[in-house]
Amino acid sequence: MNKLNITYHPDYDIPVPTNHRFVGSKFSDLFDYLQKQSYFSHCEITQPQKANEVRLQRSQSSSYIKKVKEDNLSKEDIRKINLPWSNRLKERSFLAIEGTLNAAKQALQTGIACHVGGGTHHAHYSHGYGFCVFNDLAYTAINLIEEGYVKSILILDLDVHQGDGTIDICQNYPSIYTCSIHSESNFPFEKKQGWMDVAIPAGSGDDFYFSQLQKTLENIKHRISPDIVLYDAGVDVFSEDGLGNLEVTREGIIKRDEIVLKHFNTRNIPVATVIGGGYSSDTEELASRHAIIFNVAARIYKIL
Ligand SMILES: [Zn+2]
Repeated sequence: MNKLNITYHPDYDIPVPTNHRFVGSKFSDLFDYLQKQSYFSHCEITQPQKANEVRLQRSQSSSYIKKVKEDNLSKEDIRKINLPWSNRLKERSFLAIEGTLNAAKQALQTGIACHVGGGTHHAHYSHGYGFCVFNDLAYTAINLIEEGYVKSILILDLDVHQGDGTIDICQNYPSIYTCSIHSESNFPFEKKQGWMDVAIPAGSGDDFYFSQLQKTLENIKHRISPDIVLYDAGVDVFSEDGLGNLEVTREGIIKRDEIVLKHFNTRNIPVATVIGGGYSSDTEELASRHAIIFNVAARIYKIL
């Protein structure tokens, strides 16, 4: 019987004012939602430890880590992160990056693993940005390589926003391939040059999105065979998302995740998924949207 490995920690939620764009309860909302799914009894849940400093220093500067640890971020640092600073936010930042690494290690064993968190792709080497304190994708990719788990990694980032921080941090690692399909006119307004970037015009809708996705997966296939894929399945591509401006439907997100997981499953390349961005004042709708990648993973990998 196949099991689906899910990484989650009950301390992922953060306190934010109710009118804030970021839904502070979205991690526990999603985990609650997953527990109601028929495949949940076939899921193996693990909780990450806090990231250790040796690993963290490979992807974030020592001075920035120190400022986070000692609650010593400047007003400008906190303005860039755009979340109210709290002990909980600090603690979760150390937990969630290790969560993505944990999921990746599990994916290497079983072919698929999903993180109820992650996708903090705007965090740069020495500062946070856009709701992101530390970068879990860069942390995971760099540590998998440094610790000899893999030789090459694809970070496939389908969040509506470009993972500018991931590109910046990973640029000195030639065997970490960053591929982003994002809205050309959403945040961040200064786009970085990653390994493969596809900018989609606002309001394009499902069909154009799929044609770009298929073309991109073919391009990747012709160029690399990574040992693992870190898949940022951000759901802010949704037409009714509070921040994204691509008009992808809910059915479109399901199809997107099916295309991606089937593609790499057929190629026998393990995939670790992170939830990425998703914004809505309707917390139940948001949880169900973030659950799509888990539902699709359970179906494709036959978690029965
Ligand atoms: Zn996003």
